[in-house]
Formats: sequence, structure tokens, C-alpha cells
Amino acid sequence: MNLFRNFKSVTKTCYGRGSFGKFGEILEPHRNAAPGQARGGFMVFLVDHYFQGNEAFLSRIPKQAGDEIIFCSTAKEPTTEQIDGLRDDILARRGLPAGLVGIGGGNVMDVAKALSLMLTNEGSSVQYQGLNLIKKPGIYHCGVPTISGTGAEVSMTAVLTGPVKKLGLKCDWTVFDQIVLDPDLIASVPNDQWFYTGMDTYIHSVEAITGTKKNTFAEAYSEKSLEMCREVYLRMDRSNSKSDEFLMVASYMGGLSLTYSEVGVCHALSYGLGKVLEMHHCFANCVAFNQLEDVYGDYVQEFKGMVKHNKVNIPQGLAKDWSEETISAMAEVAYNLPHMWDHAFGPDWQQVLDRERIKGWYRRMRSTGSANG
Ligand code: NAD
Ligand code: ZN
Repeated sequence: MNLFRNFKSVTKTCYGRGSFGKFGEILEPHRNAAPGQARGGFMVFLVDHYFQGNEAFLSRIPKQAGDEIIFCSTAKEPTTEQIDGLRDDILARRGLPAGLVGIGGGNVMDVAKALSLMLTNEGSSVQYQGLNLIKKPGIYHCGVPTISGTGAEVSMTAVLTGPVKKLGLKCDWTVFDQIVLDPDLIASVPNDQWFYTGMDTYIHSVEAITGTKKNTFAEAYSEKSLEMCREVYLRMDRSNSKSDEFLMVASYMGGLSLTYSEVGVCHALSYGLGKVLEMHHCFANCVAFNQLEDVYGDYVQEFKGMVKHNKVNIPQGLAKDWSEETISAMAEVAYNLPHMWDHAFGPDWQQVLDRERIKGWYRRMRSTGSANG
């Protein structure tokens, strides 16, 4: 079908082992205030708290006098309150930076994307949750993923949890100006997390090509991403040097496949789990996808094979205590994502889907409580 989507891509992409070593050179031209612009000429590096105290890693960040490192906790997914607070603090202490760099996973990269926009747009980020609500371009911003799968490095959204909605700041200006994809940086990710986050790109790729908005462009990215996921999670040992290279590229391609199509049932259910139970996005996807054989068929079988092959530990009994109230609240969040249902079931989705059907999927998660099935 014709979609006529016209999306902005990441402006510059640097890929390869050791490419993080080139980051100083890459940043240099962006350090000075552009003529006529009141920019401070300093860089802010937002760094995943995992790296706090890791001097070997921190010394590789091309920090110059006047630059600042801010460590970001990933205990919770980014919130509108967190972004507003960071913005207010940086502007009050230092004024407008020349640029922002997010070094970390989907969490820290989304913080960098959202903060870049909120440094130049007045008011609270809550008012900009949605599509094309941002009024002005943000500041120069770069993403350096240290864990792969979400596709946040390439997507046009920065997902934020607000007081009412869990919804992205989505517009052309959200997209990074520069990304540095260095497979060396993801080697230290613990196995379980490596699996959950990697499965996000597998699920993006499946959902993008199994709905009404699928198209040849999305399918091309999806097929390559799925092929690489199969290599990483079914055939290769993680010690194989190709494994991290494949996963990093699969994440990028899966992100593009969904950008040119849409996510579906699994992500809708995952948003409910995230908003109501504060479950991590990628883990929630695994919990949901495991129960969706009626929608995604053989892909769910394949996913289960990957869980088994990698001996992934998914805590048992997570869902056994969900009350009907909790299930209703999650179903409400999921139901209110019409673009995902439209993609999954077509424009008449309300004829095949109601809140009861959504609750049924959540109850299935309650009965097993484990992505191991
Ligand atoms: P994350 O950023 O939450 O990181 C997961 C864990 O891995 C954290 O504990 C982190 O400290 C740790 N970690 C990161 N790099 C590491 C490394 N090299 N070695 C060891 N540990 C490391 O996880 P994620 O799964 O990448 O991202 C999830 C977030 O991404 C959520 O906030 C979700 O909303 C967002 N997301 C965004 C998009 C988008 O398009 N913008 C898409 C999907 C998900
Ligand atoms: Zn996702």
C-alpha cells in the first residue's frame, strides 16, 4: 500500500569497531557558537550510570575544559519531570550548550533527544508529548549506543512517561544529528539484558511486516534485521566477534523498518505493562510476545526457541498478583493506541478488538507469569 511517509533520517552515521575513538574529531566543528547564535560552546555528555567510576571508559569521552558529564540513572524509564528538571538546571547554571551527547541505551539516548528539544522549547515537555507538537528545532545532539536493540539511535521519537501519557516527543527535530555505532561498546552488557533489548528489534521487525501498513521499504529493513537476529540468537556464540556487529546493525535496521511501517499488538500490550507496572520496555515486550501465538504464529515459536537457546532467565511469577483493576488499567492504556491497532487489524479494528480481548491477553500473562512459557 502507499503510505507517502516522508521521514527525516539521522544526519551522520559513523560505524565500526573503534569508531568511538574518532568522536573527538567528529564533535570539534560543533563546539563553537554558530555566528549570530547565542550558544555557549560547551558540550554536555549524558552518560549511563553504569559507567560511573569506570575510568578506562570515561577517559575515552572527548571531554574538553568547560564540558560537563551528567550521569543518568536508568532505574526508571525517562519521565517528563526528569527532562524538565535537567533542562532547568543546565540553563540556570550554564546557559545553552553547543551540543548534547547521549551515551547509553534507549533510556539515555531518549533523554538526550528529549533534552535537546526542551532546551529550546518553553514550558513543560508534557505539552509536547505527541506528533509534531514541538515548535522549534533543538540543539545539536548525538547518540552513542552502548546496548543494542531499541532502535532509539535511529528513530524519530523520544519516549517519555508523563503524568497522564507514556508517549514520545515525535518530530523531525527529534532525530539525532550524529550517531556513533561502535560494536566494542556493547560487549559488557549482561546476558539477560542483551537478550531482552535485542528482542526489541526482532519484535519491531516482525510487527512492521505483519500489519496493514507493511510495505516493501519496511520489509527490506525488516528481513535483514530478522536474518541478523537469527544469526545472533540462534546460531552464533556471543564470543563470536561478529555477534555484536550484527546486533548493532540489526537494531538500526529494525528501527528503520518500524519507522516506515508501525508496531502492533505486542507493543500496545507492552505500553500497558510499562505505564501501569513500570516494566522495562524490552522485558515487557518479551513477556507479551511470548503469549501472542494467535497473532504472530511462527515468529512466537521462533522467539521461544531463542529464549531456550540462550538460557535466558526471566523471573517467574511476575504477573500472578495482578488484580482485575490492574488488568483493566493496562487494557485502557493499550486500547488508546489506535495507530497500533489500525496497523495490526486494519481501519475497522474496533470490530475485532475490544477491551475484553486485550484483557484476555493480559490474563494469559498472569497465568504463566513467565516468558519461558
Ligand atoms: P536501558 O537504556 O534501560 O539499559 C538497560 C540496562 O543496561 C541499564 O541497566 C543500563 O545501565 C545497562 N547498560 C547499558 N549499556 C551497558 C553496557 N555497555 N554494559 C553493561 N550494562 C549496560 O535499555 P534499553 O533496552 O536500551 O532501552 C529501553 C528504553 O528505550 C526505554 O526507556 C524505552 O522507552 C526506550 N525505547 C525507545 C525507543 C525509541 O524509538 N526512542 C524504542 C524502544 C525503546
Ligand atoms: Zn520497542
